[in-house]
Amino acid sequence: MNVEKFQESMYQLIVETSTNLPKDVRRAVKKAKESENAGTRAALSLGTITNNIQMADENISPICQDTGLPTFKIKTPVGVNQIKIKEAIYNAIEQATKDAKLRPNSVDSLTGKNSGNNLGGGTPVIKFDQWEKDYIDVRLILKGGGCENKNIQYSLPCELEGLGRAGRDLDGIRKCILHSVYQAQGQGCSAGFIGVGIGGDRSSGYDLAKEQLFRSVEDVNPNEDLRKLEDYIMENANKLGIGTMGFGGETTLLGCKIGVMNRIPASFFVSVAYNCWAFRRLGVTIDPETGDIQEWLYQDGEKVEFVNDAEKETAAASEEQTNVVHLKAPITEEQIRELKVGDVVRIDGRMYTGRDAIHKYLMDNDAPVDLNGQVIYHCGPVMAKDEDGNWTVKAAGPTTSIREEPYQGDIMKKFGIRAVIGKGGMGPKTLAALKEHGGVYLNAIGGAAQYYADCIKKVDGVDLTQFGIPEAMWHLNVEGFTAVVTMDSHGNSLHADVDKSSLEKLAQFKEPVFK
Ligand code: SF4
Repeated sequence: MNVEKFQESMYQLIVETSTNLPKDVRRAVKKAKESENAGTRAALSLGTITNNIQMADENISPICQDTGLPTFKIKTPVGVNQIKIKEAIYNAIEQATKDAKLRPNSVDSLTGKNSGNNLGGGTPVIKFDQWEKDYIDVRLILKGGGCENKNIQYSLPCELEGLGRAGRDLDGIRKCILHSVYQAQGQGCSAGFIGVGIGGDRSSGYDLAKEQLFRSVEDVNPNEDLRKLEDYIMENANKLGIGTMGFGGETTLLGCKIGVMNRIPASFFVSVAYNCWAFRRLGVTIDPETGDIQEWLYQDGEKVEFVNDAEKETAAASEEQTNVVHLKAPITEEQIRELKVGDVVRIDGRMYTGRDAIHKYLMDNDAPVDLNGQVIYHCGPVMAKDEDGNWTVKAAGPTTSIREEPYQGDIMKKFGIRAVIGKGGMGPKTLAALKEHGGVYLNAIGGAAQYYADCIKKVDGVDLTQFGIPEAMWHLNVEGFTAVVTMDSHGNSLHADVDKSSLEKLAQFKEPVFK
């Protein structure tokens, strides 16, 4: 095999997967967008998402800054050297990371040290199968942490919140799948896709669930029972009203694919792999002699346009009518107390990034800058340094905020921080601190990494780089950075409200459907 050419093909596959959402996924997102009522928070979020998808296309930049744990599934004809294939993939991954198409995401599990090139024990994941065909089939999925953390595995029989007992039958499986959508809420950047694996053991069950994510969104399950179940889930999960980003709305789920395998009599697992709207998986077929790409997979059909010119004008007009509150740091307590859940906020000026390492650090140390009245952005950006040593932001969407729950309230009070921006909302400890101190939580649109990178006009500085690029404290100068108030200083939380109402709706699915 021409290994050099194969490496080039793998590089193309990685770049396309990170920057160009597959057409079957685009069609599902477009359908969801068309089903939302204009002017709602869900419509606003889907508008930002589709804008972001188009910007990623045009800039050839990551759709979302979290490019996940790259996972390759490869089928080779007998006789192909799999060791050479692995080496070529490692080189392509390293190059794509250097070119800021992938975020450096591989960290030592014990020390937290980032390898900087996405290589290390267990990363990337590469799985091989042999087959009788005469070409190589390579599929890649980039699944970020926000949605990976919402995967769930059920051991039947079990008791499920809102649904009661789930037994060892098709109806018990139905309940588990509905519950998996409920428990994800908006935190895995809904609207999402789920792959479900029935049977196996704990590890093969999850493998089977992830395998389902490699199916086309539009295929039809050949197993009649599972086809019916997939249709049922698609029809009913969207009645939970969780909606895009968990803001409420018509679409919570964009796709459901279910697979089955045997199990041992003592175990009955239902495993669910949750994937966000930024469903980045592509595939290619490769000529084993030349290493050239023969065909791109999941890219059938016409180009999917999200917005035509008339729609752009309507969107601009309705945005102008939206009541937007402008904020610029330093922000006073009085300004914060005026904000309430549902307000749309537009920020200009300075904000600081802070993720897990920074929050942990700030608990025990002084801040490197004065944070009084400032804004903290839960974000691990993809950064690139130009020839003059200046940093530019390549992708900068919000990360999952709930991870900072143990620290957030204390840090806000300690340093006088007035606003935190992230995604998925935070818990009761932070909500109490917002009320006591006069703070607000702003939900940015998860995955809209290009949209937010475009709002960042300048990188003014960086501190605490010892934690690695995504975890450092970046000083960002922004213009028109838009987010929604989902937790205010009066004790209100949109996340708690949507959780409560979706749990009530879940209870309507308690009675058996599949006998
Ligand atoms: S869209 Fe959300 S869940 Fe998906 S990778 Fe990006 S931040 Fe993570």
